[in-house]
Amino acid sequence: MIRDIKGLHHITSMASDARENNRFFTDTLGLRRVKKTVNFDDPSVYHLYYGDEAGTPGTVMTYFPFPNMMTSRSGVGEVGETQFAIPKGTLSFWKDRFLAQAVAGVETDTVFGANRLRFLGPDGDGFALIETADDNRAGWTGQGVGDDVAIRGFSGARFNLHETAATEELLHFMGYERADVEGDVTRFIIPGGNGADTIDLAALPKVPFARQGAGSVHHIAFAVENREKQLEVRKALMDTGYQVTPVIDRDYFWAIYFRTPGGILFEIATNEPGFDRDEDTAHLGQALKLPSRYEEFRDQIEANLEPLAA
Ligand code: ZN
Repeated sequence: MIRDIKGLHHITSMASDARENNRFFTDTLGLRRVKKTVNFDDPSVYHLYYGDEAGTPGTVMTYFPFPNMMTSRSGVGEVGETQFAIPKGTLSFWKDRFLAQAVAGVETDTVFGANRLRFLGPDGDGFALIETADDNRAGWTGQGVGDDVAIRGFSGARFNLHETAATEELLHFMGYERADVEGDVTRFIIPGGNGADTIDLAALPKVPFARQGAGSVHHIAFAVENREKQLEVRKALMDTGYQVTPVIDRDYFWAIYFRTPGGILFEIATNEPGFDRDEDTAHLGQALKLPSRYEEFRDQIEANLEPLAA
């Protein structure tokens, strides 16, 4: 069994419009844009990262905005809901804010005893804010979002699956413990995590498979402290029969990827070196940062990207 996973690292989704994506995450949710770079496999597309002040693992939502990408159709075999933690007693602040800003799909209910505010992102992305007690992570403030109400980072994610057994087994292997069951949803928690600690598995045997597009999660990344731990995790996964990619340098972390039995793409990402690797914390996310191999094409790449509001 693996004991080095510390919760989520980041969640990466796809969008259809970079400017709207940037506006929603910075203005509406009040997150900080901590990196403005390009898709390392396709530099005509941005890769935008939003999180807390430093882009701490467990807080980072990232996007590939592909201009005019077709909207996704939700279903099984995907991350169905990305969940952010908010302080207890702040749900009404967020509900009023979302209604005032015409955010889609705003609904309230409870999940595993916590108040939940569900809402949709600009491309129909499934999100929720979950009231969470004793979350000591500091939120990013500004845009009318004070420290008392700010998003703390992810609380977790819900996977929509045809059947959950193989994914349960994988989560156990990754160090997660089965914590609770509510209806067709089983909750897993990782002990000693970074705050982004829960994974909910929804068993939806009659729901058709999702079609990926704008608004769907591309992959979900789990955190390990460093490259040494990552290699241990990689070996453990491969010894168990998973096909795992070689280690890939993503400039701000090191990544390995593998496809899971339920269809969701998992990544294991290192907490090192972090987003202040190539710009200081005070100015994170403002300048366009390129991996060194694209630096000589900077003029063309910049000319091809829509300018974003600071
Ligand atoms: Zn990733």
